[in-house]
Amino acid sequence: MKEMLIEAKEGKYAVGQYNMNNFQWVEAILQAAQEEQAPVIVAASDRLVDYLGGFKIIATMVHTLVEEMAITVPVALHLDHGMSVDRCKQAIDAGFSSVMFDGSHYPIAENITMTKQVVAYARPHEVSVEAEVGTVGGMEDGLVGGIKYADPKECVRLVKEAGVDALAAALGSVHGPYQGEPILGFAEMKLISDMTDVPLVLHGGSGIPDYQIQKAIELGHAKINVNTDCLQAWAKAVREVLASDTKVYDARTILTPGKEAIIATIKAKMKEYKTSNKA
Ligand SMILES: [Zn+2]
Repeated sequence: MKEMLIEAKEGKYAVGQYNMNNFQWVEAILQAAQEEQAPVIVAASDRLVDYLGGFKIIATMVHTLVEEMAITVPVALHLDHGMSVDRCKQAIDAGFSSVMFDGSHYPIAENITMTKQVVAYARPHEVSVEAEVGTVGGMEDGLVGGIKYADPKECVRLVKEAGVDALAAALGSVHGPYQGEPILGFAEMKLISDMTDVPLVLHGGSGIPDYQIQKAIELGHAKINVNTDCLQAWAKAVREVLASDTKVYDARTILTPGKEAIIATIKAKMKEYKTSNKA
């Protein structure tokens, strides 16, 4: 992931992180990336790892699909919002190529200490590490919370002391749907980007208008996380099938339009983030 993000930052585009919600989601993400010739970050949120079958199942599934689908574009497998140092280590052992350790709800000194432990374990495995400062609004780790802007000085400390490859600096974005138009802190964004000089990560990328996305990319964001937009497109498509035919029961008939909707959503994001044809 590190190489992908450095290239993206230099090229003024962003690589999308698309979260999986089941097996078909991974197929959809990989198909969209291959068709768009875009590098891609396939992610499993730590809070869904057990539901998805565990770290090993996830890693095996993604690696096997990359092979079976003859995917040639760069693919990173990322742990999103890793809840502990140990969870990050388990992901690395299972074959994830990138992990996020989310120590944002701890005081900065503890966040740095734990992030350092993840980095120390990740380095010999050539695994990339993302860390977070501040609080993304909405649902995080299964908890609903308010927005807390990242402190630029804390961002610098975390990046310098822990040596992370990417930084999620919370600046007004929200997990889940936005109520009204998002208001991102662009002044703080510029400051943090200049001071830290690492690729920034935008969490809660769904539902942000294009002009704000383009500005975030311009100000150093090289990774944008998307989940809600795919979930909503999927749910809409599946709901339409069920509503249009009350007797339908075949799983493939019900779920295939959902998969197609995910592919279309991701391909549109890849165009918007200018990741298309960057593989
Ligand atoms: Zn997030």
